[in-house]
Amino acid sequence: MLRVYTPIAHNIYKAHSFIEFLVYEVWCKADKTPIEHKLKLNHVLNSLYKNTTLKKFKPEITEIYAVCQKLTNKEKKDFENTFKNNNRIEELCNGIVKPIPLSFLNKNLTKKIVPFFKGLYIGFLSWKVVYENAGEKKSYYDKLNLENKFIECPCCGYGDLKTIYSKGRSAFDHYLPQKHYPLSSTNFNNLVPICTTCNSDEKGEVDVLKIGKPIYYPFAKKHPKIEVKVEIDKKALQKFITPTGKLTNKISKSEIKIDFNIKDDQIESWNRIFNIKARYFGKIADNRISWLDDVRQFYRDPQININTYESAFDKVIQIDSNKHLGFLKSPYLKSLKLNSYLIKAMDEVSGNSIIN
Ligand SMILES: [Zn+2]
Repeated sequence: MLRVYTPIAHNIYKAHSFIEFLVYEVWCKADKTPIEHKLKLNHVLNSLYKNTTLKKFKPEITEIYAVCQKLTNKEKKDFENTFKNNNRIEELCNGIVKPIPLSFLNKNLTKKIVPFFKGLYIGFLSWKVVYENAGEKKSYYDKLNLENKFIECPCCGYGDLKTIYSKGRSAFDHYLPQKHYPLSSTNFNNLVPICTTCNSDEKGEVDVLKIGKPIYYPFAKKHPKIEVKVEIDKKALQKFITPTGKLTNKISKSEIKIDFNIKDDQIESWNRIFNIKARYFGKIADNRISWLDDVRQFYRDPQININTYESAFDKVIQIDSNKHLGFLKSPYLKSLKLNSYLIKAMDEVSGNSIIN
């Protein structure tokens, strides 16, 4: 993540507590008592159980209860511990705890709980009694992004995130994917709003915990300041001063090298999960000429008192560093600035006069 979310106070965390009750107080304490007696202690679960319009909820939780009634005490304890362990999202990402594979549990139990939990996220959080008690996903989403002041995806730093003015919201990514970690499907410590490219095109259902340890955690309490480093190959400079519109000179990754100010396992996992370096390279390659033209414009504008190419580079870097894609534009221009004398000479030789 280029940035991380600061968690907010919101009732949405209650949603997962209803499921915790179901696991710890109902299933893991299954005995000869009918399930109805145990559900009475939780008004939300009790209401869902009695709701005849929910076709699957009652039969599914009843079947799991029946399986749990036949489990040994140790098997029930294993279920409880696995659920608890696999919901310690930050510690799993930090590598402090290891995920427990569901194959470790009683086979009849695993067969029933996996489809239940995988189906839970979409259904459960949209049911009236749940959102009346825990709030709606959209209200949590808006508050989270407003308080964090995010209008761009914190993960890649430039992808669009829907805002309070948008219809709907951007999707929540199950950071530990449901496919591998279904027990945390309703845990909002594991649900992160990120852009569609980061979520669907790049991350998908990759088991992020298998990438290495520690890995990035999107709600991490400590987060280093990541800066992008760009190195332009001197021999390729001619391709960077091609007049606007002529983007036919294809740039290769050896001509624009991307790196970061920090090299550690977390940065590497972020890069691998979201294909960051390749995407940043693409953004710079696409914008390389228009960004350089911004510098030319400053240099050639008679209204602006800029005497050297170097000063024009400095001015644009200063003005644009906090704008959209500024975190890529600035290091790109800084790298070109090292060769500003060459760019000026090449412009003069080629008679490049796009601006004037
Ligand atoms: Zn993104």
